[in-house]
Amino acid sequence: TKATRSICFIGAGFVGGPTAAIIALHNPDITVNVVDLNEQRVAAWNSTYLPIHETGLLKVVRTARDGTLDTVVSLPGLAEPVELKARQPNLVFSTNVVPAIAEADIIFICVNTPTKTYGVGAGSMADISAIESATRTVAQNAKEGAIIVEKSTVPCGTARVIQDILCYYRPETSFEVLSNPEFLAEGTAVENLMHPDRILIGSAQTLTGLEAAAALKKVYGAWVPDERIVTVNTFSSELAKLVANAVLAQRISNMNAVSAICEEFGLGADVDDVSLAIGKDSRVGPKFLQAGVGFGGSCFEKDILNLAYLATELHLDVVADYWLGVLRMNEYQRQRYSRKIVRELNGSLRGKKIAVLGFAFKDGTNDTRNSIAVHIIKDLAEEMPLDITIFDPGCASADILDEIQKIGLSQIQLERIRICTGWRDAVQDASAVCVLTPWKQFRGCQVGRTTKVAAKSAKTFGLSVIPSAGETITEMDILALEDVAMQQTGILSEDPLGRLRPLSPCSKECGDGKLG
Ligand code: NAD
Repeated sequence: TKATRSICFIGAGFVGGPTAAIIALHNPDITVNVVDLNEQRVAAWNSTYLPIHETGLLKVVRTARDGTLDTVVSLPGLAEPVELKARQPNLVFSTNVVPAIAEADIIFICVNTPTKTYGVGAGSMADISAIESATRTVAQNAKEGAIIVEKSTVPCGTARVIQDILCYYRPETSFEVLSNPEFLAEGTAVENLMHPDRILIGSAQTLTGLEAAAALKKVYGAWVPDERIVTVNTFSSELAKLVANAVLAQRISNMNAVSAICEEFGLGADVDDVSLAIGKDSRVGPKFLQAGVGFGGSCFEKDILNLAYLATELHLDVVADYWLGVLRMNEYQRQRYSRKIVRELNGSLRGKKIAVLGFAFKDGTNDTRNSIAVHIIKDLAEEMPLDITIFDPGCASADILDEIQKIGLSQIQLERIRICTGWRDAVQDASAVCVLTPWKQFRGCQVGRTTKVAAKSAKTFGLSVIPSAGETITEMDILALEDVAMQQTGILSEDPLGRLRPLSPCSKECGDGKLG
């Protein structure tokens, strides 16, 4: 196979940006162009304030985007320093989609594939219109022999759709389409990309298909050991990504179901003890067994819906229902939490202030999409509280507002919601504090009476703090909260050393091209 000289990533999002940066870091001889239609996002990628917050990412981006004379770079979150040669920049972020596609030997499609919100399959089917649109641009501009890589999470069979579009526009040229789903977890993206459990490559089982897979394998081979690169057929690869997310989400729902049993049982069975006990079994393992308020985020729910939709299309209703049960359990857990808060506050929130600490869908990321907090806020807003205040140490106010705007609250309900730039302001005079993202700043905060959805959960996630004396949070309570060293700044970003530091413009606004 001929050497890869140029790679194009279409979509500079949570997946495209970090993946491109790590590939560029380890392949100094390959030019990696990351293109996106969103000018603000591209400007942010070209600034010091990246549009997404991931430990160590700024350092990786700076090394590949700006070049370096260093020989050894230690990346935050990674145990071992990485050895690098003095290098020229080889990572470029731009909106120049067409030229980047035209020069590429390998083209990764990393655009968004949300759940469809309209028409046939609304609320369950994946919307692949961004894939179709990106593919049309690829078809019209890619050079002969370019390899197209489906990086986005897609319905099983999408590689064939891509192939059909390519064939329609370029009947005389044959392109290979590979499936290479991404398994990184937000919050630990750099670490996951540097040391992946596996890289999955799906290809047609033909000579040219296998050759294309080998070319992609070589790119990853720059830093990923051979035994961690798994090659399968295209459709196994597409399906494996959906199943991987469904199984991870299922593990969470399993323990949330158990947490409900523990709480009702009354004899002191503790869900954390149950998790510990079953996690010790080497067949099960300890991860993803913590009970909490449920899972949020842009992937788990969407991918389970996607899997269930596939089953329904195949007339496998029992199979679809089986997976949808994971989502039903998740929703039940969230509702249990909201109800618990209302019950704790004598059945009504009217005239009371509720503080929400944590809005990101998990800690370590600024991603607010489909966060637990937004669902809980929706439930609580129905109770017409006086005020709902929100503080998150990593999210931009504009992103929080965007997410809240999607849940269809009335104007009156929206007016009651306030985003605070400090936790102190958020919790002052509150009747309850709901900790909904397990940021380390919030861990261990214990004030007054505490209610947990997951009975006796050692984690703070899902903990609601109800004031000890009187009806609202007092100065004393705030002092106690201070003890756990919460960050006082509203919006944080990484400085060049990868440490969190205050960022004045929010992540959306820093798309104005401000450097440094
Ligand atoms: P995202 O919304 O952050 O990024 C997608 C980007 O694609 C956006 O910036 C958008 O402007 C751009 N885009 C859309 N159409 C385009 C076009 N025609 N040309 C150029 N740019 C275009 O999404 P994401 O979180 O990065 O997810 C991307 C895909 O990866 C999804 O399919 C998702 O399911 C999958 N995935 C996500 C994660 C995760 O943790 N976020 C993990 C694994 C897989």
